[in-house]
Amino acid sequence: MFDWNQDPHRRLNPLTGEWVLVSPHRTQRPWQGQIEEPAAETQPEYDPTCYLCPGNTRAGGARNPPYTSTFVFDNDFAALKPGTPHECFEHEDLLVAESEPGICRVVCFSPKHNLTIARMSPEDLRKVVDTWVEQYRSLAADPNIGYVQIFENRGAMMGASNPHPHCQIWASRDIPNEPSKEQASLLAWRERKGTCLLCEYERVEQSEAKRIVEANEHFLTVVPFWAVWPFETMVIARRHMASLDQLSDAERDALANILKRTTARYDRLFGVSFPYSMGFHQRPTDGGAHDEWHLHAHFYPPLLRSATVRKFLVGYEMLATPQRDITPEAAAEQLRAV
Ligand SMILES: [Zn+2]
Ligand SMILES: [Zn+2]
Ligand SMILES: [Zn+2]
Repeated sequence: MFDWNQDPHRRLNPLTGEWVLVSPHRTQRPWQGQIEEPAAETQPEYDPTCYLCPGNTRAGGARNPPYTSTFVFDNDFAALKPGTPHECFEHEDLLVAESEPGICRVVCFSPKHNLTIARMSPEDLRKVVDTWVEQYRSLAADPNIGYVQIFENRGAMMGASNPHPHCQIWASRDIPNEPSKEQASLLAWRERKGTCLLCEYERVEQSEAKRIVEANEHFLTVVPFWAVWPFETMVIARRHMASLDQLSDAERDALANILKRTTARYDRLFGVSFPYSMGFHQRPTDGGAHDEWHLHAHFYPPLLRSATVRKFLVGYEMLATPQRDITPEAAAEQLRAV
C-alpha cells in the first residue's frame, strides 16, 4: 500500500507548473553536513555604524533624517535605474537582450535597529503595510513601471547585509520570472475553469485544515501542498483581490496581524530570529486590469531542522527537481505546535 506520509512522491505546484520531489522516509538519515553558527541575538536599539539607523550617513554619502516611523529612500546602489534608454539586442534568436529601466527603494520598517516583524507592535506594523500600499500606488502610476516587487531578506544566512528591519522594492518595466510564471498559470486556470486558482486553493486548504499555520478573518497562512523549502509558507488573502492597494482598512490590520503571528511562530520553532526571504506577488502595473491576480506572500526560510542546519538547493535540485524530506503536513504541524 502506498503511504503518502512515508513513500517518495512528487507534487505539482499549480502556480508555476513545476514539481517538487517529496522523500519523507529520508528524515531518519544521519546528518553529516554543515552546521551554521547561530547568529548573535543581541542587537542595540541604535547602531552608530548602521547605514539604516536614523541620523546616520549611508555608504552613498546621504544622511538619514531623524525618522520616527517608516522611512523610504532610493537604493544608493540600485540594480535598476530610471531613465535607462530603450535598447534591444538579438542575434540568430540565440543571443537576446533588452534594456530594463526601473527603480529600487529601501523601506525601513522602524527607527529601532533591533526589531523584527515578529517583535514589532501591531500599530507599527500597520504603518509598514500602509507604506507598502503607498509605494505600490505611486510606483504603479509611473508609466515606465510594469511590476512592483516588494521583498524582505531577513538574517545573515539569507545574505541580508544589515539586521536593521527593512525591505526592498524593486520596480521594473517587465514582469520578473516568478510572477510571470504565476500569471500564466492564473490566466490558464481562469480560462479553463472560469474561477480563480488561489480562491479555490484557499477554500481547499481551509477545508483540509492540515497545512494551516495561522489564520485570521482576512488571511490564511499555509505550508503549501507543493512547498520546496522545509518550512515555506504562503499568506493568502481570503477575499479575491489583485493587489495591496485593494486592501480595506480592516484587511490592512489583518495583514499586519498575520505577518506578525506567522513570523513569531518561525522564531519560536528553533528559538532564534528565523531567517527567510519573503515577498508579495500581485497584479502587474503595466496598465492591464489583471483581475486574474490574487494577492499573496511567500516566505522561504532556509532552516531545515534546527537553528544550525540549513537547506541548500544543490545537486539534483539544481539539475533536476527540488526535493524535500519532511512533508508539508508535518512542517505545518510543527509550526502549529509552537
Ligand atoms: Zn540600524
Ligand atoms: Zn482569487
Ligand atoms: Zn506567488
